[in-house]
Amino acid sequence: MSQQSGAVRRGGSSNPTRRTLDLEEEIINIPDCDISVVAEQFKLTVIGRMFHREERSTEALINLLPKPKIWDMEGRTQGTNLGNGQFQFDFDHEEDMNKILAKRPWHFNRWMFSLEKWEPFTREDFPNTMVFWVVVTGIPVHFWNIPTFTEIGKALETIIKIEAKKAKFQVSIKADSPLQFERKVGFPNGDVGIAHLTYEGLQRYCFTCKLLSHEEGTCPELTEEQREEKKHQRAEQAKQDILTTYPATFLRPANREITDPLKGIGRLPPCQLDDVRSRALVTRTENHRRDSSARNLESYNRSYERRGR
Ligand SMILES: [Zn+2]
Repeated sequence: MSQQSGAVRRGGSSNPTRRTLDLEEEIINIPDCDISVVAEQFKLTVIGRMFHREERSTEALINLLPKPKIWDMEGRTQGTNLGNGQFQFDFDHEEDMNKILAKRPWHFNRWMFSLEKWEPFTREDFPNTMVFWVVVTGIPVHFWNIPTFTEIGKALETIIKIEAKKAKFQVSIKADSPLQFERKVGFPNGDVGIAHLTYEGLQRYCFTCKLLSHEEGTCPELTEEQREEKKHQRAEQAKQDILTTYPATFLRPANREITDPLKGIGRLPPCQLDDVRSRALVTRTENHRRDSSARNLESYNRSYERRGR
């Protein structure tokens, strides 16, 4: 008896392809399990997920992470590829697992990946969180207190720790939401300012849509033409960043007296400094770059003023 006639007899489709498609839609119910038993089994397990899936394999990541100079835990942790960009590591010792979690965020080939303690997950996008230390600039020092950073941290997602004296907090953010680099803040006197947020350990992400899963060169929000244009703009910005980081060397390359903008022995006339300052202001790019450039410039100006009088 043919398969086809069997299908007809059971009331299914007479077309084998259609029947296969029908079966694919059918849900096989998984029996419930005792969570308390599996929770004990997986108490030393972490689950990870790669957000970028194109370049390196999960297998390569699993082999590399335990090695010296990365986790340095060879023989004390075992990795398993779960497919779909997900993987797990089982640790022999709790302190090893906690050490790895405390050092988040982690990256592989500069692509960030999520790493969380096992929990009874069923979603394909678990884990979907990244833990970062975020440094805040733009808030006057007298507001560097727990309530200030609690409010700012809450706007990002879930606060883990706050170091108010260093104007930073540790936060768990949703990795499929755009990174936030600036937020408007309202002060008690009614003034409105901007808090700039710098993510410690942040590696590759898309400058256009601020997602961790890709870079601007493959951003689905841009056309091929726009990607080329952005590439050109970024190259220009990089040149400008070099200019603002090393203003003295750039402006007067022939003058051997001016060797280092921070420790330099020479000095520039104030009008040229103003020129450098205005260039620094117009070349604002990503705020982490801007902050370091601005800090270098301020140090340079202070050292110029100290030496100039
Ligand atoms: Zn993008």
